[in-house]
Amino acid sequence: MRLHVFGLSGGIGSGKSTVAAHFRARGLPVVDADVLAREVVSKGSEGLTEIIAAFGAGILTSTGELDRSALAHRVFGDPAQRALLESMTHPRVRALARERLSEIEARGEPLACYEVPLLFEAGLTDTYRPTVVVTCSPEQQIERAMRRDGATRERILARISAQMPLSEKARRADYVIDNSGDLATTKANADRVLALVCADCDVDSARYLRES
Ligand code: ATP
Repeated sequence: MRLHVFGLSGGIGSGKSTVAAHFRARGLPVVDADVLAREVVSKGSEGLTEIIAAFGAGILTSTGELDRSALAHRVFGDPAQRALLESMTHPRVRALARERLSEIEARGEPLACYEVPLLFEAGLTDTYRPTVVVTCSPEQQIERAMRRDGATRERILARISAQMPLSEKARRADYVIDNSGDLATTKANADRVLALVCADCDVDSARYLRES
């Protein structure tokens, strides 16, 4: 691929989507792995058909959509079931990501961002480079995610502890975007990192950062 695709990751509520929205506003194409993950199990999809065959129709809502929380409950704490589910979803997400990125490349774009929460856990760091991680403090992560999802502290903590610690992701990243301040500061931090990514990929940053 002539298109350079860098990886954007972070922890629960650390600000990935906020930074991705800023990049999009700058004219940079962003592909969101969470959106692809929903698409590959949408109603009528091959992915959903395979999941129903393996897990039964009990993981569907009354309208025939995948009941994600029922499925999550089924595989929680059962590595074999989780691996089975992932063998049905992960290859489809990877294929769809390649398809979307090829479309972006065909438009003549030189650079794109792949927003993927499990960039490090899923071993994608050789494919999507350089790697960029959005950080804030653990307390900010908890507070922001609680406010956004209307969830309890315990629930958010359980989700956070199921992932690689954000500090570890930041240590492994090529670049870190600090999102512990206000949004204007985060946007300025994101612009600085975007300029560095462009330099790494030999892309003219003026394409995105003209007015800066
Ligand atoms: P997840 O992976 O859990 O979906 P995320 O990393 O994509 O999270 P966001 O959705 O971007 O995180 O941010 C989490 C919440 O915190 C959102 O409601 C967002 O509006 C808010 N938020 C993000 N950055 C800031 C900031 N700098 N100041 C205040 N609120 C913020």
